[in-house]
Amino acid sequence: MVSDSLVFELKRCLQRARLNPVRGMEAWIQDYVIADGPNLGLPFQFETQPITKLLIQEIDSRRWNEVFITGPSQSGKTLIGFVAPALYHTLELGETYVLGIPDMRMANNKWQMDLLPAIKANFRWERLLPLAGPGSQGGIVRDTITFRNGGVLKFMSANGSDQARAGFTSRVVGITEAARFSRVSDTSREADPLRQMRARQAAYDEPQRMLYVEGTVTVDEDLPWSAKADSSDSKIMSQCPHCGEWIAPERENLLGWNDAVNVFEAGLLARWFCYLCGEAINEEERRESVKNSVLAHVGQTVSKRGEVLGPMPQTNRLFFRYSGWHNLFVTTATLAKEEWRADQIDKETSDYENAQKELTQFKWAIPYKSNNLESQPLEKKDVIRRRTEAYPKGLLPAKTTHLALGCDVGKYALHYFVLAGLSNGMLHCPSYGIIDVPSAFLDWESAISHALNELFDLCEIGFAMQGQTEPRQVDQAWIDTGYEPDALFKAVIAHGGRPRRNSRYQLALGRGSGQMQRMYQAPPKRGGGIVEIGHHWHVVRNKRWKAFQVFADSDHWKDRLQDSFKQPKDQAGSITLHYAPEREFERLGKHLTNEHRKVEFVPGQGEKVKFEKKGVNHWLDAAYNSRACLDRLGWNPEAS
Ligand SMILES: [Zn+2]
Repeated sequence: MVSDSLVFELKRCLQRARLNPVRGMEAWIQDYVIADGPNLGLPFQFETQPITKLLIQEIDSRRWNEVFITGPSQSGKTLIGFVAPALYHTLELGETYVLGIPDMRMANNKWQMDLLPAIKANFRWERLLPLAGPGSQGGIVRDTITFRNGGVLKFMSANGSDQARAGFTSRVVGITEAARFSRVSDTSREADPLRQMRARQAAYDEPQRMLYVEGTVTVDEDLPWSAKADSSDSKIMSQCPHCGEWIAPERENLLGWNDAVNVFEAGLLARWFCYLCGEAINEEERRESVKNSVLAHVGQTVSKRGEVLGPMPQTNRLFFRYSGWHNLFVTTATLAKEEWRADQIDKETSDYENAQKELTQFKWAIPYKSNNLESQPLEKKDVIRRRTEAYPKGLLPAKTTHLALGCDVGKYALHYFVLAGLSNGMLHCPSYGIIDVPSAFLDWESAISHALNELFDLCEIGFAMQGQTEPRQVDQAWIDTGYEPDALFKAVIAHGGRPRRNSRYQLALGRGSGQMQRMYQAPPKRGGGIVEIGHHWHVVRNKRWKAFQVFADSDHWKDRLQDSFKQPKDQAGSITLHYAPEREFERLGKHLTNEHRKVEFVPGQGEKVKFEKKGVNHWLDAAYNSRACLDRLGWNPEAS
């Protein structure tokens, strides 16, 4: 083994000695012949996509040992971020190159579709193809190709077994379709796939390592976007032909197409606008400007003469992103036509949402952000932070106008959450807690009724209110009937008769994507047992108990409840909690954050919504019921 690798090493040295000093990628890529698309058969030229030169010069600078590349799809990103680095390191430098792909079954396909045509297009590279085995004429590629110059291409996957990645060493690693390297697969006990790929480089000292990551932008928390933090966060700047300042126009700077009467006119009317001087930039001016782009890293500026000023950022990670403005494969008119078409779709539909996502991710290379706050999960610290010294436990603010309670009943415990709606649009929780359900000592019905009686006392004794002498009773309480509804109905009826529309105690049932429940469906109109329809809740007559029952959209109200903790303090819709030592809110914090609705866009599959539950969430169920109950009582944060 040792002698084999020595021979390889010697061969490589000899070959290198024969070719002059090692060429950089900028010189090497002049040998590249385009193997597909409209420029098929033509030599690679920087002029067709000028920003590629900026990238390759950065790679050649050897300043970076991690290079993250993203841009619009169909813009040559695969060539520059995936094929060229792999071929440069193997065919030119004779090195080993680990190539990370989402799935090993794609190895042969990637080889046949992307790599082999590029190799065959250049006769000197073709001569380096292996004569037998994988990668040779007719040889199927499973994971490894050994070129005749000693260069080795080794495929590894993001989702394969951990053993498939372990135990192989390489200085250089390249990754394509980066988003799929972001998350730990269910079967892996190890770190995320990117980190495992990096572990292949462990034998080399950090300055020697080289990592290339290429991919389309999907969401904030996935690669490549997630690598933007701690990176050079570089911006490609080009000069405005009017004011002479250096700019990087984005989607919002492509205008003029909105009012077009048809798609053709949208193309004709579209112009870029400089965001510094407001002047229109036509297609010819844009091309000229992009041809002379410069790269500015985070913190750097560009002088009018085009000099990049300011210190280099303290990082070894280059984050190279280009956008619709920089992509000269697509004209201004074509981009505008796509915007116009997407804009014609009915705004209320998911088709519209999907079209917008495709545009942002595939044309503009920015992660899609939904307009609401749900994209960032609520954290425990966000909950604990809401306790306020202004109100001890049990005291209501003077501005309280509505008072609701929600509760979740289980076998041994009843979790409740009291919520006050204030006249200034804010929410306050004066009390939350647990009432024992003594089902270990009593039969189930008695145990439930015992616990509910305690709850009724709590609601009817009420809470002290600032500036008032009399305590304030709870206006309405929603009791979740997800568990043993018969016993709950019985206990409520025994206490105050069958629940009517305005009874203090209402039996509620959540519908939503969590916990194998059915999704909530708002009834179209009243009648047939539907007695009241509200905003994401409705009331039906329960035939079995001849009593009213509320159905609530649990997804919607959990979202609103969690939003109230994300909303900046003192803003309408935001919540505060009564005062107590921090540790007392630990469990509440866990319950409220243990479930989180996630909306993500998977390219090619569209939007996916799922509820992720990590542990117990009884207080979240109680709290969302109290929040929905406030809505039914007529409180809403905008009304203030
Ligand atoms: Zn300008």
